[in-house]
Amino acid sequence: MKADDEETDKIFRTEEIVWRPFVFKVSVAVILFSLMLFILLFFRNRQLIEIEHKIRARSYYDHIIVTRGWVSDYGGVYIEKTESVKSSPYLKNPDIKAIDGKIYTLRNPSLVTIEISEHAKANNLFSYHMTSLKPINPDNIPDEFEKKSLNLFEKGEKEIWLKQRENGKTYYRYMAPVFREKSCLNCHVEQKDKPEDMIIGGISVKFDISGIENNLKTHNLLILVLGVLSTFFFLGIIYFFTLRLMKQLSISQKQIQDMAITDELTQLYNRRYFYSKLSDEFEKAKRYKRDISCIMIDIDYFKKVNDEYGHHAGDTVLQKVAHSIKSTCRGIDTVARYGGEEIVILLPETDNAKSFLVAEKIRKKIENQEIYYNKSNKTSVTISLGVAGLKTDNLLYTADSSQLVKNADSALYLAKKNGRNRVEIYNCFSDQ
Ligand code: GH3
Ligand code: MG
Ligand code: MG
Repeated sequence: MKADDEETDKIFRTEEIVWRPFVFKVSVAVILFSLMLFILLFFRNRQLIEIEHKIRARSYYDHIIVTRGWVSDYGGVYIEKTESVKSSPYLKNPDIKAIDGKIYTLRNPSLVTIEISEHAKANNLFSYHMTSLKPINPDNIPDEFEKKSLNLFEKGEKEIWLKQRENGKTYYRYMAPVFREKSCLNCHVEQKDKPEDMIIGGISVKFDISGIENNLKTHNLLILVLGVLSTFFFLGIIYFFTLRLMKQLSISQKQIQDMAITDELTQLYNRRYFYSKLSDEFEKAKRYKRDISCIMIDIDYFKKVNDEYGHHAGDTVLQKVAHSIKSTCRGIDTVARYGGEEIVILLPETDNAKSFLVAEKIRKKIENQEIYYNKSNKTSVTISLGVAGLKTDNLLYTADSSQLVKNADSALYLAKKNGRNRVEIYNCFSDQ
């Protein structure tokens, strides 16, 4: 059955009111969730890399502290003096001559730190810098970061780190204090009265982290791209399934609505729908001053059909008569099962004369129709019809739309009375 335009509109409005906000809310939730996931991954990755940098820096620091301790425990170590190995100007009597005539020169922890640092730097690994706020060797003068760190160590800070951009590269800088140990007194006799855990300076470690930082950037970009793609993918899936669900629900909703207004046996509109349509059309006719009419139909001697061929055959006959009547009417007419084997037609914008013609056309069609009530057996029936119409002038005085149906019913009664298989017009029209 063709759905009514207003009903379709209602369904469409439901989709707008229910589904759009639903899809919008789900989409916002998915986008927020993806964004949260990305931010979480972004910061977690960064945090893990930071931890790795610090572990690496601490390990370099620990290594040099151990090395310095080892050198200090021996009161410095001697290395053979060659072209490239010079004596330190900061040590008293650094050179000694061995029995074989070779000259050995002293290296204290500070010089060992510098030389290991230079060695590591030459191999593109890392660099150390032993420094203090009052350095003896000008090479050990602290830079800005080191000076700040040393001052913070004095206030109890245990380690300082930061990332620094230099010549297009990113460096990780780490610094921790160096405490005076017993073995320091082997050389620094002047410190013997100072407390044992006194800070004598700090060692800063510096290494290039450009590679890992660039990898992290690429990694984060990859996560972002994947995040955006998967978000769009999920949104696509949501839209796809919501659209499908929406269509299915809309079809079911329409089926339910059709069922609510349809007579199951004849597939015509039911009586309830007919009355709602009648009142709408009646109002329209009143407002636009248009004619409206109604045809009430009843199958003649239908009881006999049931009695002779059975109730099932009666149902089939009723269905076929209903179908014939419906197919004779226009799209704007409302054909409904009024009850039992009675069918009613509402004809908007149609006066009595035209309605009579339609009724007569239907009557003849049914009269001449062979109706198969099963595969091999057929019968025929006739119908009686009552036509009632209201002209625009009368409409103004007719407050109740159901009067139209009552009038058509009276005309039908007359048709039955006058012999059946005929059309009668409500007799009040003779006055119009
Ligand atoms: P007439 O209208 O010409 O006076 O005679 P009639 O035999 O048709 O009498 P009436 O209209 O009063 O009877 C209606 C009968 O239609 C009664 C009932 O058995 C039959 N009927 C009503 N609804 C159905 C239906 O859905 N299926 C079948 N098979 N029969 C129906
Ligand atoms: Mg009848
Ligand atoms: Mg009847």
